[in-house]
Amino acid sequence: MSESFAAFLYLISGVLFILALRGLSHPTTSRQGNVYGMIGMGIAILTTLALATPSAGGIGLIIIGLAAGGGVGAYVARRIPMTAMPQLVAAFHSLVGLAAVLVAAAALYSPTSFGIGDVGDIHAQALVEMSIGVAIGAITFTGSIIAFLKLDGRMSGKPIMLPMRHAINAGLGIAIILLVVVLVVTESTFVFWLIVVLSLILGVLIIIPIGGADMPVVVSMLNSYSGWAAAGIGFTVGNLALIITGALVGSSGAILSYIMCKGMNRSFISVILGGFGGETAAAADDDIDRSVKLGSAEDAAFLMQNASKVIIVPGYGMAVAQAQHALRELADLLKEADVEVKYAIHPVAGRMPGHMNVLLAEANVPYDEVFELEDINSEFAQADVVYVIGANDVTNPAARDDPSSPIYGMPILEVDKAKTCLFVKRSLGSGYAGIDNTLFYKDGTMMLLGDAKKMTEDIVKSMD
Ligand code: NDP
Repeated sequence: MSESFAAFLYLISGVLFILALRGLSHPTTSRQGNVYGMIGMGIAILTTLALATPSAGGIGLIIIGLAAGGGVGAYVARRIPMTAMPQLVAAFHSLVGLAAVLVAAAALYSPTSFGIGDVGDIHAQALVEMSIGVAIGAITFTGSIIAFLKLDGRMSGKPIMLPMRHAINAGLGIAIILLVVVLVVTESTFVFWLIVVLSLILGVLIIIPIGGADMPVVVSMLNSYSGWAAAGIGFTVGNLALIITGALVGSSGAILSYIMCKGMNRSFISVILGGFGGETAAAADDDIDRSVKLGSAEDAAFLMQNASKVIIVPGYGMAVAQAQHALRELADLLKEADVEVKYAIHPVAGRMPGHMNVLLAEANVPYDEVFELEDINSEFAQADVVYVIGANDVTNPAARDDPSSPIYGMPILEVDKAKTCLFVKRSLGSGYAGIDNTLFYKDGTMMLLGDAKKMTEDIVKSMD
């Protein structure tokens, strides 16, 4: 295959990747988006194989690699629950980082195979690209492992704050930049591995001070890093597809991090500097009467059936309980009883953007009943009942009213403006940010303590 025809095919796969990203931006088009992505990746892989013309043995190795990687990926993806998606993504990113390190090492030890010069005489430009790729790759590798451990609960989500951590991180960063210069001049393999080791350490140090609640932003940021690492390696090995995909992953990850930060009203810098989420639950405010009104499924059914407008606010707990199908059933019954039903989605409800939309789509909730925060917030005041199912932080009035709260400034769904707020959760415990929710103690709130799916099913039964 000629180089120019290969470049044309890579361009087609790049366009398909862009269409994939566009499709994934809405539930109605996401399946189509996935198909575009798969076709694009298929074209990129086949073109790379056709260009490289590997030996029969090489082809065998590639097929074994594809079968093993694809098999493990398919198995894991089928088994993983939606709630564990952020840690799965973190685990996968660590592999992207590791791949960038290994490809860079292969290029250093065998430059002729990559067409970047001879041993001891590698082109300076390739050395720069390689060393940047390897540094970002190694930071992504260990950073993603720490993110995985924190998100999966194998390591405490609390920030670990080392003394002088900013100075240590800055020192390591400067050392890595200097070593990149030394590597370009000397081509020393020792310096190469020193960059790898320092970058691995920096990856750990950057992520440990970041609290659990900020971790999804970090995963998206690492996603972005892994994309830039891949693009850097793409330049080294002269592979257009890798440059295009790397740049797409790098920029879309950066945009996603920005959207999440905006949803939480936190600056990207404050997320990266860490320390958020270390607070323990219930920063007790003595002025608050902490008595709560407890209710039953029967109470909830009565209130909802006699309402004219009900707004449903799903959150992480709905995902844990997998209550979306029961919720849809409840909404159908209400609509049959001429109750207007809408769903309100906060941009950071759940553990990743779009988490709630995907679950509601899975339960065939009509898209035109689902509203974003800015489109529905003004309607809570007219709602008779708000059914908060497994959401917590995204409804916490402290974000609006208490300047001392760690989540102050985060936009919230103003559920406290409705006549009655039915709050389904298992306890009076805090949400992801570890902060007490004063909404539990307000007059208009009725707590329905229990599992979100079980409680919703009981409400449905009580409506018969
Ligand atoms: P929260 O994590 O604030 O609260 C979820 C609540 O669900 C918990 O308080 C828990 O209470 C309850 N719950 C858990 N399991 C069940 C169950 N089986 N049945 C009923 N209730 C259950 O969720 P939100 O969706 O309100 O907020 C998302 C949080 O994640 C925010 O802090 C946000 O900043 C953060 N975040 C989200 C990102 C995103 O992109 N979506 C990105 C970064 C951060 P209990 O244990 O008492 O049942």
